[in-house]
Amino acid sequence: MHTLTQLKKYSAELVDLHHTLALMQWDQEVRMPRRAAEGRAGQFATLSALAHRREVSPELGALLAGGEAHKESLSVEDRALLRVMRRSYDQNTKLPEEFVAEFSRLTSQAQMAWLEAREQSDFAIFQPLLERLVVLSRQQAEYLGYAAHPYDALLDLYEEGLTTARVAGMFGELQAPLVELVRRFSGRLTPLSFAEPFPQSGQERFAEHLLVAMGFDFSRGCLARSPHPFTTTLGHHDRRITNRYAPTSLDFIFGALHEGGHALYEQGIDERLANSHLDDGVSLGIHESQSRLWENVVGRSRPFWQRFFPELQKAFPAQFAHTGLDDFIRGINAVTSGLIRVDADEVTYNLHVLIRFEIEKGLIEGSLGVADLPRIWRDKYRQYLGVEVESDADGVLQDIHWAHGSFGYFPTYTIGNLAAAQIWEGYKKYDPTFTQTLADGNLAKIKEWLVREIHSHGSVHLPEELLARVTGAPLSAQPFLAYLEEKFGTLAG
Ligand code: ZN
Repeated sequence: MHTLTQLKKYSAELVDLHHTLALMQWDQEVRMPRRAAEGRAGQFATLSALAHRREVSPELGALLAGGEAHKESLSVEDRALLRVMRRSYDQNTKLPEEFVAEFSRLTSQAQMAWLEAREQSDFAIFQPLLERLVVLSRQQAEYLGYAAHPYDALLDLYEEGLTTARVAGMFGELQAPLVELVRRFSGRLTPLSFAEPFPQSGQERFAEHLLVAMGFDFSRGCLARSPHPFTTTLGHHDRRITNRYAPTSLDFIFGALHEGGHALYEQGIDERLANSHLDDGVSLGIHESQSRLWENVVGRSRPFWQRFFPELQKAFPAQFAHTGLDDFIRGINAVTSGLIRVDADEVTYNLHVLIRFEIEKGLIEGSLGVADLPRIWRDKYRQYLGVEVESDADGVLQDIHWAHGSFGYFPTYTIGNLAAAQIWEGYKKYDPTFTQTLADGNLAKIKEWLVREIHSHGSVHLPEELLARVTGAPLSAQPFLAYLEEKFGTLAG
């Protein structure tokens, strides 16, 4: 059999195994009875081990080498398939088995320690585990290899090709203007608060309504409930999302738009890439650009709510009878210097990420010690956001990422925010009457453009390449800063 044909078959089998694991995960988060946990953990271990064995097999190594030998004669897609499979093969084979086992043991201990530390708001409980995780992560970087900085190797795990220098440059552009924007707009817009709870069935109905309006295809996906919203793929025609419903919060709206943005990306991947390693979003940053575009750029804009606010009022008369559109828009865009990243608005959000980036870089290069983190955290929050961190729980212990051993993940959130603004600039050139498009609720027009320009390509192009194809420029902070300046300048008058 031709090498490429064999490689595609191999790819399809691995994708099947991963979709099956995703189905088990979905079930665990959405529907699994409590006492099934132990059995499910065993099933995960068995199936993951089978998948891993196939991912590191010499057979796959030989197929990749065979394909690469005549790379020049291959189509763009076949070359991309080789690239993506090679990358995953190298990541899986460069780490010795004992290292992977130790890392996985340590992260499960670290997650328990982190939970307890956060509950008691005591960093000291988490500190020894985090110290060992930093040591292992530095070792991981050495195994994976890097050109300039050990943190490069970890960044690349989440965003192919991303480097420390690139992220430092990005935050260099962002930092001073963001601090200034926070100073200008913090506290200027009044947040919304609700005395009357939103009935859950109404929340679910409205979330579904927004998803239909965005173009989410319910014949190829579904919406369920889970404590932490997420999007997952169980097959080419099966892209699922979850949402959460709290009594007096608008999370049901922005959660649906966010996860819906992720799901549209997945649903939009071209059918010819089905059942292969290319049938996936290309990176976390580009994925996040799609969720942020729908959640923030579209979903917190005035023209969007010109169309949907009357419906929201009708669905929840007790909550919105005395709220006007302008108060609503200002409320959902209120800028608050806060302590918690996941609650942050569009202006302050990236400063939370900047703090984590500076700390991670310091830990991995060895210029910062784990023991100093609570103090460094307080100093940076004071310096960048002007807030006093009163407790470890609301400070250095708020995110689970480090307990997972995920160093290098945070910057992808900021890449998503920047890329969303840059992609939106591209859309505005294509559709100069975009304000009317939004006010008409013609979201299909936006979706179709995104499918053509971004979604349909799956993982064929590298993230930076894709962005440059769509927007004509490499990732830059300028479109995002211009977007914030215009939007919040207008909102605050
Ligand atoms: Zn997301």
